[in-house]
Amino acid sequence: MGKPTGFMEFDRVDEGKRDPIERTNDWKEFLVELTDEPLQTQGARCMDCGVPFCHTGEMIGRSVAGCPINNLIPEWNHLVYQGKWQEALDRLHHTNNFPEFTGRVCPAPCEGSCVLGIHEPPVTIKNIERSIVDRGFENGWIKPRLVETRSGKTVAIVGSGPAGLAAADQLNQAGHTVTVFERHDRIGGLLMYGIPNMKLDKDIVQRRLDLLAEEGITFKTGVNVGVDITADQMKSDFDAVVLCVGATQPRDLKIHGRSIEGIHFAMDFLHGSTKHLLSNDGKNINAKGKKVVVIGGGDTGTDCIGTSIRQGCESVVNLEIVTRPPEERADSNPWPQWPVVFRTDYGHAEAKAKFGKDPRQFSVETVEFIADKDFNLTGLKTVEVDWSKPQKGGAPFSRVEGTERIIEADMIFLALGFLGPEAGISEQFGVKTDGRTNIEANDKDYSTNVPGVFAAGDCRRGQSLVVWAIGEGRGAAEACCEYLSEVAQPA
Ligand SMILES: Cc1cc2nc3c(=O)[nH]c(=O)nc-3n(C[C@H](O)[C@H](O)[C@H](O)COP(=O)(O)OP(=O)(O)OC[C@H]3O[C@@H](n4cnc5c(N)ncnc54)[C@H](O)[C@@H]3O)c2cc1C
Ligand code: SF4
Repeated sequence: MGKPTGFMEFDRVDEGKRDPIERTNDWKEFLVELTDEPLQTQGARCMDCGVPFCHTGEMIGRSVAGCPINNLIPEWNHLVYQGKWQEALDRLHHTNNFPEFTGRVCPAPCEGSCVLGIHEPPVTIKNIERSIVDRGFENGWIKPRLVETRSGKTVAIVGSGPAGLAAADQLNQAGHTVTVFERHDRIGGLLMYGIPNMKLDKDIVQRRLDLLAEEGITFKTGVNVGVDITADQMKSDFDAVVLCVGATQPRDLKIHGRSIEGIHFAMDFLHGSTKHLLSNDGKNINAKGKKVVVIGGGDTGTDCIGTSIRQGCESVVNLEIVTRPPEERADSNPWPQWPVVFRTDYGHAEAKAKFGKDPRQFSVETVEFIADKDFNLTGLKTVEVDWSKPQKGGAPFSRVEGTERIIEADMIFLALGFLGPEAGISEQFGVKTDGRTNIEANDKDYSTNVPGVFAAGDCRRGQSLVVWAIGEGRGAAEACCEYLSEVAQPA
């Protein structure tokens, strides 16, 4: 273990954050890494528990406990405490293909399950993870792992998000010849065109993509599978296919006034913003000088806030229909479950610093979008809701009479989550979908009803997290390897 008495001697120290006003003047990452010494001290806080819940990745009730990819957390905490960074990197890569992504964007369910977290702030696992891999790149320890023997089997991966990339990496290292197809002009899925630069710099994404390409994976961009190449063609050209197409159908808010101009899906805004930053194509939706309202919270809502502020919006309000989470875990949400508590993410902190108050308003339903006589967006009408009064056979809340009000807005972003993958691709491949339109495949063998076609990531489990996508990609790759060795014969 780190230092036997470390957890009693040292307090938790988080990585730094750049000043919230200063950082909104650019698109650089807002987190600032700790130096070696404080990180080693943080590693020393790990108690190397007999049963380390931090790496279990189990669902407990409706909530995950621990790291979904079973990162060997106590092992690398100990190695970091000893200053053995390169060995720590080896252990980290053992379970995680892309720790530089999770170390930046993972909400860290591991920390919610850390045993130390029962009575003290948990070990700062995510910061340590990021620092290990960043040192790995800085010191040149991460080199292309060239594959010496090829199996003669070919695999197509559809979609290049973290699920597709993890599957591609695993299958390539197993000796299969892998081609990743992506319909956008850049590889990375939501790592590239979703999560904004200030959370995950695109050079960090590209650095890993270059490495994967050097290791032998072929990337094909601008190929819309199902349109530019049919499913039948793909099934005949490759020995196996792994669908990692994400959950890209946004949830809409079909209320009065929805067709007014200026109401956008969050992803159209975020995708366009990053693309503009990378290519300067001038085609993005721009919030400069706008009174912005973001409907919906979560990562997508926060990213819309942070992006609007960087573009120079005049104001920003964030509406959430759910109730404000408690400051502390509720009795119904015990350790080691993910703690559902009130958090202030980077975008909220920036809005507060810039405009003087937290942009979030909870328990608010949007009931109508409003335009002037020339059909220009001027705002929206809201009403407060009471979740303690569900309607019989209807909504799980009631509207509170007399709480209607108008909020001014000339740009609105819908960040209401995603419904599942687009239907076209599932239909073409003939794969069954479940009641939520996700591709039907279990999380043991990830195989669909079509032999040789596997599914992983958000398109299978529904909108989730980068860490789950990596885990699913790894799982599907393992199942696909088994299929290739047992069923498909080389041509
Ligand atoms: C704005 C936003 C912010 C987020 N922030 C975080 C965060 O901070 N932390 C976190 O852990 N998670 C975050 N998430 C969730 C996380 O990004 C996803 O869970 C994860 O990217 C899912 O990975 P995936 O590989 O399954 O799919 P995706 O990343 O969605 O990739 C799917 C890819 O498939 C491609 N594709 C689809 N159909 C086709 C086709 N027919 N032909 C070719 N290509 C196709 C798409 O273009 C896309 O590139 C965020 C999500 C959003 C939307
Ligand atoms: S990937 Fe996420 S859950 Fe796993 S150790 Fe890293 S921060 Fe924790």
